[in-house]
Amino acid sequence: MLPPALDKVATLLSRLPGVGKRTAMRWAFHILSEPPSYAEGLRKALGELLEHVHFCRQCHHLAETEVCGICRDPLRDMSLLCIVEGVVDLLAIERTGSFRGRYHVLHGALAPLKGVGPSQLRLENLEERVRGGVTEVILATSADVEGEATALYLAQRLAPLAVSVSRIATGIPMGGELEYLDDHTLSRALAGRTRLT
Ligand code: ZN
Repeated sequence: MLPPALDKVATLLSRLPGVGKRTAMRWAFHILSEPPSYAEGLRKALGELLEHVHFCRQCHHLAETEVCGICRDPLRDMSLLCIVEGVVDLLAIERTGSFRGRYHVLHGALAPLKGVGPSQLRLENLEERVRGGVTEVILATSADVEGEATALYLAQRLAPLAVSVSRIATGIPMGGELEYLDDHTLSRALAGRTRLT
């Protein structure tokens, strides 16, 4: 019915979160209806994204350099490490301005039923980082089943190390995803963390 090239774009767009097949098709039509410079700009931006944006070697945050700006910032408190599920959670905490430590981004949470185990998370250098001068690890995973399971797993995994482990709790609704919390609630949750080990 439609040119395969258009169908292909719509199919790719439909994989974005919250975008259904019909919306994807509408977007594909829209791209086509814009002046060609728009699609060209999109292609260029995606190319640059692929070429320049990587994951920080240390914390796995997004970076255009080998090590991200947060990890390179000498004013950051090296003794505090906050573990989050995703980059959006890191950004949410950064927006509060109430955390001056560094991060470790897991890029997921444990979900055995979906086949996500510890090896699928960015944990390969966690212990090494903790041994490098960290005195407190803050587990800032979501308050849903997967986030809680991940926090529990991490607390157990870090228990042999000489580090205190705390969990943000206060003010986070059950099932709450960090990304959607307001700054004030998230700031309070960080300040009111409870020590696990
Ligand atoms: Zn980093």
